[in-house]
Amino acid sequence: MTTSRSKAEWQALDSAHHLHPFTDYADLTAKGSRIITRAEGVYLYDVDGQRILDGMSGLWCVNVGYGRRELAEVAGRQMLELPYYNNFFQTAHPPAIELARQLVELAPAHVTRVFFTGSGSESVDTAIRMIWRYWQLRDQPQRNIIIGRKNGYHGSTIGGASLGGMGAMHKQLAYPVGGIVHIEQPFWFGEGGDLSPEEFGLARARQLADKIEELGPERVAAFFAEPIQGAGGVIIPPASYWPEIQKICDRYGILLVADEVICGFGRTGQWFGSEYYGIKPDLMTIAKGLTSGYVPMGGVLVGERVGDLLGSEGGEFYHGFTYSGHPVAAAVALENLRLLREEQIIQRVREEAGPYLQQRWGTLAEHPLVGEARGLGFFGAIELVADKASRQRFDEDLNVGMRCREHCFNNGLVMRAVGDTMIIAPPLVMTHAEIDELVEKAWKCLDLTAKSLR
Ligand code: PLP
Repeated sequence: MTTSRSKAEWQALDSAHHLHPFTDYADLTAKGSRIITRAEGVYLYDVDGQRILDGMSGLWCVNVGYGRRELAEVAGRQMLELPYYNNFFQTAHPPAIELARQLVELAPAHVTRVFFTGSGSESVDTAIRMIWRYWQLRDQPQRNIIIGRKNGYHGSTIGGASLGGMGAMHKQLAYPVGGIVHIEQPFWFGEGGDLSPEEFGLARARQLADKIEELGPERVAAFFAEPIQGAGGVIIPPASYWPEIQKICDRYGILLVADEVICGFGRTGQWFGSEYYGIKPDLMTIAKGLTSGYVPMGGVLVGERVGDLLGSEGGEFYHGFTYSGHPVAAAVALENLRLLREEQIIQRVREEAGPYLQQRWGTLAEHPLVGEARGLGFFGAIELVADKASRQRFDEDLNVGMRCREHCFNNGLVMRAVGDTMIIAPPLVMTHAEIDELVEKAWKCLDLTAKSLR
């Protein structure tokens, strides 16, 4: 973009006219927004020219890193050839068809079909509609309750916000979608007490069976969860959790939905988080890493159990978005998949860069402020605590996580705060030297945070 204004001008216009997502507006007006003007590789540059290491891949999405010409060029070519056409009413175009084919090829073997959307939230709403439709087609319309989890995140549409388990979001919904209930999350550090991680994982998984029994198995349609909770604070379930969940879903015949919006496209070192955990979801919601965030696109990967019914005998599914399967987004997604495949980016996360990141990230556990440093693939989290041994948290009013986040930004690192949990999800192409820089900066910012508390 060529328009040139001073930082103060951008901030004043921003505060006057732009309502940001997930932003405290009073805070924004008081402090002024950070204006990011360009990005390259794993670095952002702000309007002052400060270079900032992006530890969050934007919002968990820029998997192949910034500045990839291939993606820009393919978008330009597609815009000239066919900038838009829809996939409604028995129409289709090659980019959407080819993308569906390639996604089915990449996904676990039982996945046979894809429904495209424009975002993760739309994918989640689409999955909810598919769940209801599936049980209607099975002549069990009373099976319409969906079980989600507290502190899960499934987006910001009314469906996504209702299904997610974020208390603050629920408070702002006058009428959440009915028929959605939540069980507890498998967050061992925060809620595991004296149980071992394995015992705790089993206990939390078995809450699903208890909830199904309480509601009546004939009324429960599906269980919906992220393989690893992202926005909730990079919550990596104990190894015992997912196998038990899969068993319970199988035992009661309910649908299993994995929200792969963050985990999908390499973050765990596998194409999908479901593969990492060896689960077989009936539906998988995707977005973000599908296009590495270069253009908006999402989708639902549909397993044969639902797909065979919905996609052949189901009649018309009264659902779709103007931008479902958008040709430019589909062309970018195809090129992004090519980069992930041909540059062996996911293999690198699994075999080399991921283990290196985890080894370096783990050293943060030695910092006096850190109660736990955990991670997997290209995910990381650290828990800031007042007392390491007892896992005692700081007083909420101290806003320790936010302080740390500010120090990070001012020192050229994006690390996100979820309460007092600091999280990272770097671009999957980050080099060893950049990983070193990330961990060194994180340590320094922890020092600054500790100092500010004295
Ligand atoms: N599902 C998960 C697991 C997410 O993390 C997100 C976004 O962070 C969404 C859904 C919503 O995606 P979007 O913001 O593209 O609507």
